[in-house]
Amino acid sequence: MICYRPERISDWSGVVIVTDFHCPNCGTPVNELARYARMTVCEACDTAILIEDDAVRAAGVKGVMHDTVSLFDIGDTVKAGGQVITLGGKARFSYGRGFWDEFWGVDEKNAPVWVSLDEGDVAIQRELDDRSLSSAVQKARIGDAIRMGGTEYVITEIEQAECVALRGVFDHELKVGETYNFFNASGRGSAILSYEYWDGGAQLYLGDWFNPFDIVVEPAS
Ligand SMILES: [Zn+2]
Repeated sequence: MICYRPERISDWSGVVIVTDFHCPNCGTPVNELARYARMTVCEACDTAILIEDDAVRAAGVKGVMHDTVSLFDIGDTVKAGGQVITLGGKARFSYGRGFWDEFWGVDEKNAPVWVSLDEGDVAIQRELDDRSLSSAVQKARIGDAIRMGGTEYVITEIEQAECVALRGVFDHELKVGETYNFFNASGRGSAILSYEYWDGGAQLYLGDWFNPFDIVVEPAS
C-alpha cells in the first residue's frame, strides 16, 4: 500500500508541490508560488515559515523593508533576454554603498531564477552547479581574473552583505540578520558571475546584466 501525504506531492522532477498549505501561526493559506519554494513569509501575520519534509515551522522575522520606488515587485512578471520570470520573493541586503533587492522567481518551466535590482541595474542569474573553482578563490582581489568553463571572468566587486528584510517565497532558507560574503565578476559581453561563500560552502550564480530599458514588466493582475 502506498502512503502519501495528500498535502505534499512531488512532481516528476522531485519538486515538492504543496497543494494545501497554511501558516502555522495564523492559518492563512500561503502564496501559490510556495508550491515551488522552501520558505515563505505569511502575508497576513508576517511570520517567516520554513517548508520542511513533513512539517512547516515558523523560522523567524521578516525584518523592516522601507518601500521605495521599484522597477518591479513581487507578483510582477519580468521579461528579458527571452526569459519570462514571475517574481515570488524579495530579499533586501544591505552592504557598504546602501542596499539592493534580490527577487526570487520561477520561469515558464518553474525553474528558479534570481533577479537582482541595484540602483536601477538589473542582473538575472541562475544557480550554477560547478565544483571546478577552488575555495582559494575566496582570497582573490578586485581585478583578479578567474577562469571557468573556458571563459574568463574579472572580479569587479567583493562585499559582505546582511539580509535585512524578507517578503514572499524562496526556494531556500534566508535569515534576517545573517551575513553573506560574495564577489561579482564580469565575463564576455554582459555576463555576470556571482560567487557566494560561507563557512564550509559556496554557491555560484551565472547570468547577465540587463539595461532597465530592455526589460518588460507586466504588473501583477
Ligand atoms: Zn500567518
